[in-house]
Amino acid sequence: FGSSPLLSPANYPDSVRPFADVIGAELITPLAGGGEVRYANLDYAASAPALTEVAAYLNEVLPYYASVHRGAGYASQVSTSLYENARGIVREFVGARPDDEVIFTRNTTDSLNLLASSVPGSGEVLYLDIEHHANLLPWQARPHRSVVAARTLAETLERVRAWLKAGEISLVAVTGASNITGEILPITELAALAHEHGARIAVDAAQLAPHRRIDVAGAGIDYLAFSGHKLYAPFGAGILVGRRDWLDEGRPHLAGGGAVREVRLDSVAWADGPARHEAGSPNVLGAATLAKAAQVISSLDESAWHRHEQQLRSALVDGLSTIEGVTVHRLFEDSDLGASTASRGAVGIVNFSIAGHDAGLTAAYLSAEHGVGLRDGRFCAHPALRRLGLPSGSLRASFGLGSRLDDVERLVAGVRELVERGL
Ligand code: PLP
Repeated sequence: FGSSPLLSPANYPDSVRPFADVIGAELITPLAGGGEVRYANLDYAASAPALTEVAAYLNEVLPYYASVHRGAGYASQVSTSLYENARGIVREFVGARPDDEVIFTRNTTDSLNLLASSVPGSGEVLYLDIEHHANLLPWQARPHRSVVAARTLAETLERVRAWLKAGEISLVAVTGASNITGEILPITELAALAHEHGARIAVDAAQLAPHRRIDVAGAGIDYLAFSGHKLYAPFGAGILVGRRDWLDEGRPHLAGGGAVREVRLDSVAWADGPARHEAGSPNVLGAATLAKAAQVISSLDESAWHRHEQQLRSALVDGLSTIEGVTVHRLFEDSDLGASTASRGAVGIVNFSIAGHDAGLTAAYLSAEHGVGLRDGRFCAHPALRRLGLPSGSLRASFGLGSRLDDVERLVAGVRELVERGL
C-alpha cells in the first residue's frame, strides 16, 4: 500500500464532486507502469464506501459496545436503544406501514432466505429470469415456482399478469433495479397486479435503495430487502421489512437465544416480532451505522443526487458508444434509460463488453494501467447473462455519491486505448 493512501476531498469544487463532503476520504492506487493515481472506484454496486458521517458515528458509538436486551448495565442499555432506534429509522427510511416488521439480518441474501422460509408452504412464487442469485436460488428451492422471461418491461407485466390469473401465485419476487444493467423495474405496477390477484410482492432493493427513495406503503411493497454495505455503511447488516403475519408464522431464521418466549428440555415456544428471527447476539454497530447511512441518504437533495448520477451514466454510455467494438447491454428494450424518477430509468450501473477482449483481462488491465476498479464476470446472475448472450461474462461499471466525472472519463480513455492499440 502507498505511504499516503488517502486524499482529502474537502477542497474539490462542487462541479467535480458534488457530494464530496458526504462521502469519505478517497484512495490512491499504484499503477503497474510506476507512479500512483487516485483510485477511480467504479464498483459501488458491489459495496459502496462508507459515508463520512457513518464513519464518524461508528467511532462515536464504539465505546458502548455491549450485548443488547439482556443486560441491565449502562452500556447494554445504550446498545439496546441504538439497536431499537435503528429499527425505527429504517422503518421511516423505507416508508413502512406501522405494523410492518423490521428485521435486522446479515445482508440481502440473508433477508431473502429468511423470507423464503416464511412464505406459507404450498404457495407458489413467481420471479424473473434476470434476478441476482440471492433472489433466485431461495425460490428455486421451493416446490412450486415459476419464472418469467421477457425482453421488454411491457411484456414482463403481461406475463406476470397471465401467471397471476392462471395460477396459485402467493408471491411475486422481483428486483427493484438490476444489478447487471441498473434498469429499474416497474414495482408499483407489479405490486398492483399482484394485489389484484391476491398475491404479495417482495422487492430485492439491494441496488435500488442506494439510488432511489423507496416508499414501501405508497408503492404497495409487501416485503423489501437490502444491504447496509451497498448503502454506504459497513458490512454485516441487512434489512427485511414486511408484513407481519407470514414472518410471525414462519420458521425462526436461526434457533437460539433471544428468539424464544419459553424453552423446556423437549419443547420451545418461539417469540414473535423481529426477535423470532434475530437469535444470537445481534450486530448492533451494523444496525446503527446502516440507520445512520439511511438518515444521510434521506437528507440528500433528491434532484442533485439523481442529476449527478444521470450525468455520469450518460457520459459513460455516450463515451463507450463512440468506441468501435463496444456494446452497452440492456435487459429490456423498452426501459427508459434517460429517465431518473423514482420508478423509471436506470441507477448508476453500466454493463458492457468489447468485441474480441476477455472481460477479466480487460478489468485487470484497467486496474493496473489506469487505476480504474470495475467488475467483470457474471454478477451472480448466470441465467440473465446467458440470456444476454454473454455466457462468459461482461464488464460492469457502477458509481455513486463519491464518483466523479473524471472517473468515467478515465474508464472511457482506458477502453479506447485498449481497443485502438489492439492490446
Ligand atoms: N440482490 C442484488 C440485486 C444484488 O446486487 C446483490 C449483491 O450484489 C444481492 C442481492 C446480494 O447482496 P448481499 O451480498 O449483500 O447479500
